[in-house]
Amino acid sequence: MTNKRDYYEILNVSRNADESELKANYRKLALKYHPDRNPGDKESEEKFKEASEAYEVLQDPQKRNIYDQFGHQGLEGSGFSGFSGFEDIFSSFGGIFEEFFGFSNGSRSRSRVQKGADLRYDLTLSFMDAAFGTETEIDLQKMEACSSCGGSKCEPDTHPETCRQCNGTGQVSRNQGFFTVRTTCYQCNGNGQTIPHPCTACKGAGQIRIRKKVAVKIPAGVDTGSRLRLTGEGESGIYGGPPGDLYVFIHVEEHDFFERDNTNVVCCTGCAWRYHNGSYLKRQKDTENSKRHPTWPPLSSSR
Ligand SMILES: [Zn+2]
Ligand SMILES: [Zn+2]
Repeated sequence: MTNKRDYYEILNVSRNADESELKANYRKLALKYHPDRNPGDKESEEKFKEASEAYEVLQDPQKRNIYDQFGHQGLEGSGFSGFSGFEDIFSSFGGIFEEFFGFSNGSRSRSRVQKGADLRYDLTLSFMDAAFGTETEIDLQKMEACSSCGGSKCEPDTHPETCRQCNGTGQVSRNQGFFTVRTTCYQCNGNGQTIPHPCTACKGAGQIRIRKKVAVKIPAGVDTGSRLRLTGEGESGIYGGPPGDLYVFIHVEEHDFFERDNTNVVCCTGCAWRYHNGSYLKRQKDTENSKRHPTWPPLSSSR
């Protein structure tokens, strides 16, 4: 059984909505719930995926027909399983996001939508924080879409123009002897568009470097080498693409007298402890051994 919502209801359109109506309503939802605008927000993520799936089905006459007649189960029966994640959505729709964000003038077929870069942050934790888990804030510097132009690189109320050098193709041809050589257009760097009025806030870069504090929940039991992934906290995407992810690499400091032994915490000074069946067993440390690596006598001989 499926408990998915009705696709028409999700896109807020009537059952006989035409293609332009579907697209207009999907656009509204996609802009509102776009992962770049709601980094790390699970609810928006779900709404974005839900709307994308509804649009994917209803804009395809064949899938829409199956859905109209047999509903969600009919689609599942025909092998449709929706999207598995953002990457899936962006690779399917690609160019439509350029259009939604005002980056496209319709003259190009190749999509420029790009996922933002992933970021790495190295976080050093005390032994106790690593063992018991903690919440911390990290101070991050990253590139984010310019709030003035929304990443379009254009001054508000202005638009990119089709490059006159290459007529929007991004490539120019030049004759060399018998051959015609095609190279990337030097005027627009292959974008097919030029920006007559660059945004003053970001100097036409579309992105600005910001500092941001990101809350990180460290689960108990992380160790040096553990890696946490914070979806959508990387740099913002290009031309309406999804943001990258942030990877937090954990480094755990040594403790003066505790040490990790697999999933146990052992004490290494003078005496040693072992947690077993709900109680701590105390053993005298073998003084011949090194401080950090006491040998364990078998549990059955514990006194
Ligand atoms: Zn800007
Ligand atoms: Zn050009």
